[in-house]
Amino acid sequence: DSIIVNVDGDDNKSALFGKYDLGKLLGSGAFAKVYQAEDLHNDRESVAIKVVQKKRLKDGLTAHVKREISVMRRLRHPHIVLLSEVLATKTKIYFVMELAKGGELFSRVSSNRFTEKLSRKYFRQLISAVRYCHARGVYHRDLKPENLLLDENRDLKVSDFGLSAMKEQIKSDGMLHTLCGTPAYVAPELLTKKGYDGSKADIWSCGVVLFLLNAGYLPFRDSNISGLYRRIRTAQYTMPEWTSPELMNLLRRLLEPVPEKRITVDEILKDPWFNHGVDPSEIVGIQADDYDLEESGKKLNAFELIASSSTAN
Ligand code: ATP
Repeated sequence: DSIIVNVDGDDNKSALFGKYDLGKLLGSGAFAKVYQAEDLHNDRESVAIKVVQKKRLKDGLTAHVKREISVMRRLRHPHIVLLSEVLATKTKIYFVMELAKGGELFSRVSSNRFTEKLSRKYFRQLISAVRYCHARGVYHRDLKPENLLLDENRDLKVSDFGLSAMKEQIKSDGMLHTLCGTPAYVAPELLTKKGYDGSKADIWSCGVVLFLLNAGYLPFRDSNISGLYRRIRTAQYTMPEWTSPELMNLLRRLLEPVPEKRITVDEILKDPWFNHGVDPSEIVGIQADDYDLEESGKKLNAFELIASSSTAN
């Protein structure tokens, strides 16, 4: 079923809504299927289209989910996959997104780890995206390798920012849990089912990602799930011996089990490992609004330039 044609209300059988030519399946997650497609109204530009079956949304397109989609459509950042359009039929929702042509970041890390320099580049790009969203009250809550993609310049593009309410709805069916399998990226406070702070939970996941970049393996592993939970709750992990003391220090502050004690985004911006090779005067006084590219065109500040420069330390 790699091609969807003849969707409800669509009389053009060869193209989705007469607008997009659907191509190959790029991947499927617990939540949706993602296809490559060509935008027929825009020089056949390649895009990615995520297809979600409406029946999987227990309560349908609730006001909450609609609000989330409208927030997501306003996120414009060099390291966040741009959502350009959302189309819906009686049975399906189509999220038309920017295509991340470089595929998944971690398809490169499965056998070997990244250097500290390259880990720093991707971690900076990730933090820049997270900071932009958090400043707008948008939390990811599901940061993990499948959501970390690369563009044609091998720069990071985070996907699924802002889709958490929709995912939660599917999760309440019990489906996400069973299909997702591993909670390896999940912050300890999420395991207790109490309320949690989305910003702090994202920071934990960023710590797991940074660990994985540097080590080439996950910080929390165990052959059984209760053992894994225990390791996460107590932040029991072994850092590889090649880790520099500065990176060890940052990882310790990211993978802090008590959310209130965990490092904040603003503190990360001041961290010595994070700033290695950067003139401190360049990163002082940056406001979240500096990332707002919507009105200002492509205005990049010093930090953003650092974050997006592929040759930065
Ligand atoms: P989850 O299991 O996290 O809920 P999902 O069902 O929403 O995920 P994704 O993980 O977002 O699905 O997408 C499935 C796969 O499709 C990804 O792992 C990735 O390889 C590919 N993909 C998703 N979005 C894009 C994109 N914008 N460009 C290129 N590939 C993409």
